[in-house]
Amino acid sequence: MRDYIAAGNWKMNMSIANGKDLAQGLIESNTTSSDKVILCVPFTHLAVVNEILKGQDLIHLGAQNVCCEPSGAFTGEISAAMLTDAGAKYVLIGHSERRGYYHEDAGILSKKITLALENGLKVIYCLGEPLEVRQANEQNAHIKTQLESDLFLLDASQMANITIAYEPIWAIGTGKTASPEQAQDMHAFIRATLESKYGATIAQNTSILYGGSVKPANASEIFSKEDVDGGLVGGASLKVDSFAAICNSFPPK
Ligand code: PEP
Repeated sequence: MRDYIAAGNWKMNMSIANGKDLAQGLIESNTTSSDKVILCVPFTHLAVVNEILKGQDLIHLGAQNVCCEPSGAFTGEISAAMLTDAGAKYVLIGHSERRGYYHEDAGILSKKITLALENGLKVIYCLGEPLEVRQANEQNAHIKTQLESDLFLLDASQMANITIAYEPIWAIGTGKTASPEQAQDMHAFIRATLESKYGATIAQNTSILYGGSVKPANASEIFSKEDVDGGLVGGASLKVDSFAAICNSFPPK
């Protein structure tokens, strides 16, 4: 049975004090319908939020980025080993904002994924198509290319530590959500592509999250789809009430 996961991506938001309050508020809101909640916080917040999360096992800590080199003279970068040292268990890799603004290509993403896994992190690997690709109805070919070039160098045992987040770029931070049917179709396609490379067991066990303007009003319909195992949530993860409502939007198992 796959995990139902609600992951929050705080991006470059929140003071440390507000981040602590948000994490504490989520613990107190005692959500019950997801198997796992993951908070992907800024680097500066990792160690303090890690302290808040101790003593409970629903909410896990994640980072939003990692360096593609293991250590050394890379001024301003944060290594995978540093993330685990600060308490992170997960890291986002391949987010469209990293691909777009920081030119992260397949070579960089593959190195990041490998280093993260070698250091004991679980990876939330993000992929998605831009609007013009969707308008040309070429989204499946685009997603297949991303999977093949970023992820399919991994072996089967490494795939056990990968969660996939499908995030159509045209739906991120725009208020424009993919319809539940569009999400289901793409998630089923991603699962079939995983199956053709790694076999049915890995494909069935991999959680595939949807991201792109998920909010309390649309989460339960999106999460009700068979191949949608949760959400990667930006804006609506910044308030206790809205993120707790999303965490409680999963269908019974
Ligand atoms: C994201 O950045 O991963 C995201 C899905 O953002 P939003 O929910 O704000 O669209």
